[in-house]
Amino acid sequence: PVDRSPEIQEARLKLPILAEEQVVMEAVRENPCVVICGETGSGKTTQVPQFLYEGGYASGNGIIGITEPRRVAAVSMSHRVAKEMSLSTVVSYQIRYEGNVTDETKIKFMTDGVLLKEIQKDFLLQRYSVIIIDEAHERSVYTDILIGLLSRIVPLRNKKGMPMKLLVMSATLRVEDFTENQKLFRTPPPVIRVDARQFPVTIHFNKRTPLEDYTGESLWPMFFSGILVFLTGQVEVHSLCRRLRKAFPFRKGNTTTADTSEAMRKFKKAKQKKTVSLPRIDLDNYSALPVDEGDEDREAGIGDEEDGGSDLDIGDDPADTEEKADPSIPLYVLPLYSLLAPEQQAKVFRPPPPGTRLCVVSTNVAETSLTIPGIKYVVDCGRVKKRFYDRVTGVSSFKVTWTSQASANQRAGRAGRTEPGHCYRLYSSAVFGDFSLFSEAEITRRPVEDLVLQMKDLNIDKVVNFPFPTPPSAEALVAAEQLLVSLGALEEPPRTGRVKEIQRARLSCPITPLGRAMASFPVAPRYAKMLALGKQQDCLPYVIAVVAAMTVRELFEDLDRPGRSEDESSKLTQRRARLTQMRRLWAGQGASLLLGDLMVMLGAVGACEFAGCTPKFCEANGLRYKAMVEIRKLRGQLTNAVNAVCPEVGLFVDPEMTPPTEQQVFCLRQIVVAGLGDHLARRVQAEDVLDPKWKNGYKTPLMDDPVFIHPTSALFKTMPEFVVYQEIMETTKMYMRGVSAVEAE
Ligand code: ADP
Ligand code: MG
Repeated sequence: PVDRSPEIQEARLKLPILAEEQVVMEAVRENPCVVICGETGSGKTTQVPQFLYEGGYASGNGIIGITEPRRVAAVSMSHRVAKEMSLSTVVSYQIRYEGNVTDETKIKFMTDGVLLKEIQKDFLLQRYSVIIIDEAHERSVYTDILIGLLSRIVPLRNKKGMPMKLLVMSATLRVEDFTENQKLFRTPPPVIRVDARQFPVTIHFNKRTPLEDYTGESLWPMFFSGILVFLTGQVEVHSLCRRLRKAFPFRKGNTTTADTSEAMRKFKKAKQKKTVSLPRIDLDNYSALPVDEGDEDREAGIGDEEDGGSDLDIGDDPADTEEKADPSIPLYVLPLYSLLAPEQQAKVFRPPPPGTRLCVVSTNVAETSLTIPGIKYVVDCGRVKKRFYDRVTGVSSFKVTWTSQASANQRAGRAGRTEPGHCYRLYSSAVFGDFSLFSEAEITRRPVEDLVLQMKDLNIDKVVNFPFPTPPSAEALVAAEQLLVSLGALEEPPRTGRVKEIQRARLSCPITPLGRAMASFPVAPRYAKMLALGKQQDCLPYVIAVVAAMTVRELFEDLDRPGRSEDESSKLTQRRARLTQMRRLWAGQGASLLLGDLMVMLGAVGACEFAGCTPKFCEANGLRYKAMVEIRKLRGQLTNAVNAVCPEVGLFVDPEMTPPTEQQVFCLRQIVVAGLGDHLARRVQAEDVLDPKWKNGYKTPLMDDPVFIHPTSALFKTMPEFVVYQEIMETTKMYMRGVSAVEAE
């Protein structure tokens, strides 16, 4: 029996999904797999687990598992459901490094990656009576794989007399990839459509589309209340928040009634008095178009990737007086993005302080994963930050691109949850017309060697035959298989025999014992290989530290962004000098120098741990505190994983790790080359430089164009003839990251 508070009970009754409780429960009873579609905010994530709990699905041995593509959602939804049910010990979450699961847990929220790891330990997922795959429309790689695996696990469980249910939940009605895919479900699962109960949203297009400073454009509708702004990444979110706080300062005790028309009048007056120096935007530039009310074809984009790239926390700068508006219009400005601390995230669900107007500035986490109450105005920049990979070379870059039409409509829909709303698109309708209709499934856009290794470890040898909702390209599968063979994770395919058979064999190589060990490490195969080799010469603690550092993005603060004021830029110059000095120190001497950037990482991790991994140490030495904390957690996790594979080494994380000896450095370099062997580059010899673009360039086997060593690299001056690199990122040039020297034989 669940005892809910009257307020919770009342709020629940307003959710469209409540009307469908019987339908949902009956469909689940009658079918092994059920699909539920319902507009964001209709109550799927918070209510369906409760229906199942009350329906007795967690009363036996099995529990209810729910997967989310994002950590934010897993954590905040578990808290919300625990609160709604007033049963805090029954509802838990598990994300990569942390969780609060106990023996009492009956409803478990987790990231999709966590469940995939559990399948490796127990293919039948015997602890669960139900699995709910949430946010399936996001088409994250792990979600897709999980649906494929569960389409096999569910019938197996039923056959073994341990029945299990699968629910797939989506915020869009476009679910054919799951339901119409014969390879996936031979009998199409029933689809329950939850009435959207969406209010109309009027769309206002910009007449022209700003190419730069679109965050500036998003400042103008700020005299409204209940605003949600979609930007592309953390840096942008923080910078707009700062501008808004300056333009509309909010101080305690300085609040007026949040009357929009009054606020607007004051805003206009303030503007005339020139106290506001916001970008001047003519309201007449916006045309109003009613959005199709019957627009059912909505879909969100794939998982946002705003976690990538640098995520500087930009503090307020009191010296900046660039924007000032009438201070009597208090705006309560809140940032929102995946990596934001949970306490900060939780703020968006609480009502703003009385007499203030809520304005949330978000990346696309607010597109479908989280429903923010009280939003009436949406400002959409129309863009999204994504990581792009080159199919052949694996070169990746973060790019901000236009989002899809489906995604833009999903964003607009956020304005119509509680009453009719407005969406201001900072781009023209013509530009919108050129957007792709839907975003692509993530699996078709990135290398898949990690997935292939995981599948082989599950004894799925013929990965091509796996029931992917959308299969990755054949090229990507072949490339993955080749890499894994070269790393020794898969058996070599036969070289003789009939052409067709060889081809077939090349795509179905079974896993080797080394491959199994690698699969048990929660890092990409190249790094897993290094861990598997690390036992020599007591190198493991170093390998673990280096691998952890390579896996976490952006150890060092990005000090190259332009200074905002004279003052700040002189401070920046100082900090840059300090970081350069530290890098030189961490790079070591003699033999260590050859390990290059990896030695710098190792030195940074060692020094930071030695100092107790404090924000102060990081700040003083140009390290990103968040990254260092993540590395610390990952070191712990990798140490446990290695101990599980070879308990005899009895590893532990030593905060006072001494620098490696010369012998160990030699050994580390061999290990690094073994892992990154296919990422080899050779310096172009002076006599070969015919084209000036090749000056100081390196040649890689797969690319026609040169790649370079970044000026901040430890090997920038040395320029060894042969190097291996961690990855190539395209920014202003093609730069190798994580460079280490290889001695020519
Ligand atoms: P869906 O999964 O269909 O998008 P949810 O179950 O996430 O819908 O949300 C249902 C309702 O619960 C929404 O109105 C949302 O505002 C509310 N809600 C979700 N999380 C919280 C929270 N932490 N605090 C307050 N309300 C919340
Ligand atoms: Mg949801």
